[in-house]
Amino acid sequence: MNDESALKRLWAPWRLPWIKESSQGVHDCFICDMVNAPAEQDREHLLLYRGERTLLLMNRFPYTNGHLMVAPKRHVADMQQLEAEDWAEVGLLTQVALSALQQTINPHGFNLGWNLGRISGAGLETHLHQHIVPRWNGDTNFMPVVGQTRVISQDLWDCYDQVYQAVRAMRI
Ligand SMILES: [Zn+2]
Repeated sequence: MNDESALKRLWAPWRLPWIKESSQGVHDCFICDMVNAPAEQDREHLLLYRGERTLLLMNRFPYTNGHLMVAPKRHVADMQQLEAEDWAEVGLLTQVALSALQQTINPHGFNLGWNLGRISGAGLETHLHQHIVPRWNGDTNFMPVVGQTRVISQDLWDCYDQVYQAVRAMRI
């Protein structure tokens, strides 16, 4: 079983409200909403860091504990529209995210990926974002058995606070 098929098999029932709302057209673009919101709302939005061109945020409907995303601020759907400076900051914030997660929740590995187009599984297909999904040994083995049981044991905002502190300590 390769990593891609393992990721697809992760069962995350708490994502259903998001999927339902999406299909009803409730969401316009939550990433643009974050870019435009005042910084005082960053914690509420699970926004970890505002770069010059890129955001680092925590996924509100995570596949696993500590599921982060790196998103260019510009509302573009095609990777070909990203400029060299965008890529540089995406790379930097990816490194920051990996380090912060290793220092806090210490995963055994990561899946990194971009879902391009609805068919790929993108929840938000109009605004590019990279997923950073922490993985632990055995995390796909027990989930099909427990079915509806949520595997995320740590509160979303507890995890946010820890990762936020780790990001701030890096002084990027
Ligand atoms: Zn957008």
